[in-house]
Order: sequence, then structure tokens, then C-alpha cells
Amino acid sequence: MLRRPASFLKQLLLHGTTDAMAEANRSIVRGYMALAGAYYGVMVPVHFFALSGSDQVRMVIVSFVATIVAMVGWHETRKQVKSGKLELIAAATNWMVYINVMAAVHTNLDPSNLIYFPMMALAFAFTSVSIRMALFSISIVLSSLYIELTSDFIGQGMAYGYIGFTTAIGGLAFVIFLQRAIYAAISAKETAEDKLDDAKRKLVDAEGKLVEADQLTAAMRRRAMTDSLTGLPNRRAFFDFLRKDLGPAPKALDRWLIALDLDGFKMVNDVYGHLVGDELLIAVSRRMQDFGGPGTQISRIGGDEFNIILDGIDLEADCETWCNNLLAKVAEPYDVNGRLIQLSASIGCTKLIDCDDSTVLIRNADYALLHAKKRGKNRTIVFTREHEINARERFEIEDALRVADFSREIQVLFQPQVDLSQDQIVRAEALARWDCPELGRVEPERFIRIAEENGLISKITLAVLQKSIAALQNWTSPIPLAINLSGHDLLSNQVMNEIVDLLNASDLDPSLLEFEVTETAMMADTEKACENLNRLSTLGYSVALDDFGTGYSNFNYLRELPIDKLKVDRSFVKDIGNPMTEKILHSLTVTANALGVDCLLEGVEDEIQLVMAKRVGANSAQGYLFGKPMESSELVDVVEKQVEASSRMAR
Ligand code: C2E
Ligand code: CA
Ligand code: CA
Repeated sequence: MLRRPASFLKQLLLHGTTDAMAEANRSIVRGYMALAGAYYGVMVPVHFFALSGSDQVRMVIVSFVATIVAMVGWHETRKQVKSGKLELIAAATNWMVYINVMAAVHTNLDPSNLIYFPMMALAFAFTSVSIRMALFSISIVLSSLYIELTSDFIGQGMAYGYIGFTTAIGGLAFVIFLQRAIYAAISAKETAEDKLDDAKRKLVDAEGKLVEADQLTAAMRRRAMTDSLTGLPNRRAFFDFLRKDLGPAPKALDRWLIALDLDGFKMVNDVYGHLVGDELLIAVSRRMQDFGGPGTQISRIGGDEFNIILDGIDLEADCETWCNNLLAKVAEPYDVNGRLIQLSASIGCTKLIDCDDSTVLIRNADYALLHAKKRGKNRTIVFTREHEINARERFEIEDALRVADFSREIQVLFQPQVDLSQDQIVRAEALARWDCPELGRVEPERFIRIAEENGLISKITLAVLQKSIAALQNWTSPIPLAINLSGHDLLSNQVMNEIVDLLNASDLDPSLLEFEVTETAMMADTEKACENLNRLSTLGYSVALDDFGTGYSNFNYLRELPIDKLKVDRSFVKDIGNPMTEKILHSLTVTANALGVDCLLEGVEDEIQLVMAKRVGANSAQGYLFGKPMESSELVDVVEKQVEASSRMAR
């Protein structure tokens, strides 16, 4: 806060002077002491030799005392002194001067000696530290002069009276202006200093607040970058680290990016509950940190996924060994709240080589991890050159799928299905082809699995269904069609609603459409899949179990599903050289018939296979022998020719 200076007059009249003003006056007072000391010091021997008798004694004593007082005053004011002390010192010297003057005037009653009074008034004005001192000392000088003029010097020296009076008034005015100027200068300085102090205080305050804010930001950043459960750096921190610390092109050649995912963690959650799951995640994190040591950066990317940056290992084999040791550590049993839990993990890793885009490295590690999972989990797969080629293609397709306009880019081909008792095409399977603007025509083997993994498959399903419905409405004599559904479609109520809406809006005879589903598509949630299949079934659409024999082929659960047909996978027909094949196919058709469902053999490519298909009792067949997947117009031609031929036969 700024100190408000009291008004000048109040200050100088009531309080004499301030310490700051005393300090400003100190040099003047000191000069006065020096002069007075020197003057009276000289006057001591002068009086001693010039005078005699009592005059000599009196004058020597007073000038000697004045010299001492002035010298003591000079000495005392060598350093800063309080205002009161300075006033006292100046006043004491004034008294000494006054006494000397009075003594001198009375030693020799010459009117010319009265000149000492105006001189004294002037000197006192100069050396007054305060106005009260000036008023007081100058009044004494004036009244003494007046007394002298009216007593000892009656009728003489009036001129000195006038001079004394004007000098006193002038001196007083001088004191007031001088002290006022000093006061103003000091006030200005003090105000400036106050402001400076204030500014400094504010600066310190601001700096403090800035430090506080910095600390808060740092704490918030730490929190935003930390996984609250395990205390490990989180996904954001990991990506930040990759981007900032490694830069777009991580140069260190002995660095690896490791993607680790726990196997079967979902089951732990389902069986023991989330609290146990959380405890387990904490324990796994701790174990990994202990294993990795301080040089290894482990982040929790989400759920049961972790990313690790491993430093200081060059060779692939060494990295693999390190990862396998980590997996062994993770696989040791955990004691969570008294429960002994064991679980494994899978790892995919890639070397952090020069790369423009760190997300590519992450994708590569994830790609290797996917392979580790597919190859039976609890293992390490290092991303290789071969993976790279596959992955690049995969990522290309993934990226193109994301921006595809399926209603325009998906084309549908139709592959005939033949009833073996009448040798007639009775249905056709609708099979998707993707005409991608960048990649050209893409076969389903290349894009269906990827689309299933990222959920885009449902858009493809809807496009195929829409086009199949349009074809059916276009054909003069519609050929029943079969549509493939994937797991994503079956498990999403929203997609199923869209499918049912399309079907209802088409006003088609339900017997014209069949839906093909695979066992694997239903595995994730059989209950939901069953519920949705029943929806289609009750609307009158038939359902075929696709790729039969490649999955669990669990007949018990077949009974629960609304299945009308088994489509035996083409791998069985292909294996025709194996003597067991026919037996297996036979028992399959028998079982299908026993369950009251049709049996279709896929992949019939030649007459021998056709003969066998008939022999084992299959109801229908599909395969290149009857036609590859073809355009709608071609299918219509084939069917028309078949109708013509059969009518010719009938005639
Ligand atoms: P899928 O459902 O088992 O379809 C039959 C596949 O076997 C078709 O391949 C067909 O061209 C092929 N095929 C038929 N007869 C023979 C034969 O005699 N010999 C041989 N070697 N192959 C034969 P495509 O069209 O390449 O489709 C491959 C797979 O892609 C399909 O297998 C199906 O799983 C999937 N797919 C195709 N279109 C769709 C679709 O619209 N939706 C879904 N979810 N999946 C589709
Ligand atoms: Ca199929
Ligand atoms: Ca199939």
C-alpha cells in the first residue's frame, strides 16, 4: 500500500520533520557544524590573544564550548540520524552561536556588532531543519535584537534593526520554500518507491500465482496422462510419447514397440466380477513394471491392452526372448482377494524403425498381436516383412472400406443352387463384389473378414439385400435368393431392425429369400443370435447354416436354432479321394434329414462329385459345375434355358 504523506505544514509544524527530510538536511547541517567548528576553533586563540581579563576568559570559554558543540554535532551527523536528534544538534549549535554573538556584542558595545543579528538570522534560516525550529530561532534572534536596540543600544544601530527584520522575514520565507522543495522531492521519491514496492509485491504475488498455476497445470496434465486404475501412463500419454519424444521418425534402432493383450480377461470379469478384474489388472501392471524395470515404458492403452517401449535390444531373437520371459511372468498365478487366478497374454511386436507415421508402427504391432491371438494365444509374434506386405494390403482395404459408398460400389453376383432330385436351379446365392474406386474389383475373400472386424460388414449386408430385393422385383419370374448374414448383423438389434424394415417395405413373398449364417457368427452371443434368427423365421424366411462342418457342428444346439438347411462346407467335397469322406457326408445328410432340415453340398465342381452328392442323399448342391457366381442377366438366361429344356423334355 502507498503511504500517504501528511500535509507539508502539518508535518513541519507539529512533527518537526521526518527522518527522510532530516537526511536531506543533514549535509547542510553538517556543513554548518564544520564552518561553526572551524570558525570558533580559530576564534579561541584570537580571543585569547586579542582580549584580556574577564572578557578574555568569557570569550575564550564560549567560543571553545561552541567549537566543541559544533565538532560533536559534526561527528554525530556523519551517519544518518533521527529527525529529532538532528533538530537537537542544530539547535544546540544555534544556541552556541547565539551565546557567542551575545557575548561578543556585550564585550564591545559597538553598534556595528549588531550586524551579527541579521547574519545570525540568515544562518539560522539556512540551517533550520524544520519550520518550527526556524520560527523559534529566528524569533529569538529578532527579539534579542529588539531588546538590544531598546536597552543597550538605544538610539543607535536602527539600520541593523531594519536589516535584521527583513533578513529574518526573508530567511523564514527561504526556509519555507527550501523545506517545501525538499519535502516535495522526498515525497515524489517516496511515492515512486512505494509504487515500486507495490509493483514488486504484485510481481512477487503474480510470480507466486504463476508458479501455482504451473503446478496445477502440471498436476492436471499428469492426471490426464495417467491411467487412474493402474497408475501407468495411459493411451494419451503413450501416443504423446510416440509423437513428441520419438518424433515422427524414431531413429533409435534398438527400440521395440510391444503390444500386449491379456488372453481371456473378459472371462475373469464375467466369472469373478469387475472388482476382481480391476485388482488383477493392477497386479499384472505391477508385475510387468517389475519385470521391465525403469528403462521400459509401459502404458495401459485400454481394458486389458498394454503397449510397451523396450529400449536397448537390437536383435529380433533377443526381443522375442524378452517378450516370452515377460509372458511367463504374467502367466504366474495371482492371488486376488484370496482367489488364485491364472491368465496368459499375447504379444505382437515391431521394431521402431524410421517411419513417417508412428500410427503405422502401432498398426504393425497390433497386426502381429492379432496373429499371436489367432495362432492360439499365449505367444509372441514379431512383425515380419511378410506381415508387412499382408498388413499393407489389409490397411489399404481397411482405409478404403471406411470411405466406401457401398450402395454404389457393392455389386451382387448370383451363384445357382441346384435341386438334385430334379436337376433344376431352385435358388441362387447372392455374393458380394466390391468395385473400389482406388483398388478396382476386390474379391470377398479380401474384404469380408476386415469388414466384419470393423463392423462395416452390416452396411455391405444391407447393400446386398437391397440389390437382391431389386433384382427379385425386376425379374419376371423371380428366382429365390440366399443372402449371407454375418455375426455383426445378427448381434445388432439396430441392423436387424433395418433388415426387417427393408424386407417389410419390399412386400416380397418370404419364400423368395433365405438367410445364410455360420456357427462362428453366432458364437459370441448365441442367445441374441437365436432371438434375431427367430425374428426372420417367424416372418417366413428360411435359414441355412453355412460352412457346416468347419465350426463346432454341435447338433444339440442346432435343435435350438430355427434352421431349415445345412450347407456342408466345400472342404468335404474337395476331399473326395479320402474313403471316409463319403461316409461322413452320408451321415451328415442322414442326420440333417433326421432333424428335418435340407442338406446342400457346397463346392461341387465336376460330375464325379455330383454323382457322390446324389449318392450320399444330399438334397441340393452348389458349385462351379452348375455355374460360378454370375451377373443377374446371365442367371436369368441360364434359368430360362433350363425351363425351355425341361419343357422340351416334357413334350
Ligand atoms: P460362402 O458363403 O461359403 O460362399 C460361397 C463361396 O464359395 C463363394 O465365394 C463362391 O464363389 C465359392 N464357390 C462356389 N462354388 C465353388 C466351387 O465349386 N469351387 C470353389 N473353389 N469355390 C466355389 P465368394 O463369392 O468368393 O465368397 C467367399 C465368401 O465371402 C463367402 O463364402 C462368404 O463367406 C463371403 N461373402 C460373399 N458375399 C458375402 C456377403 O454379401 N455377405 C457376407 N456376410 N459374406 C459374404
Ligand atoms: Ca454363404
Ligand atoms: Ca459356405
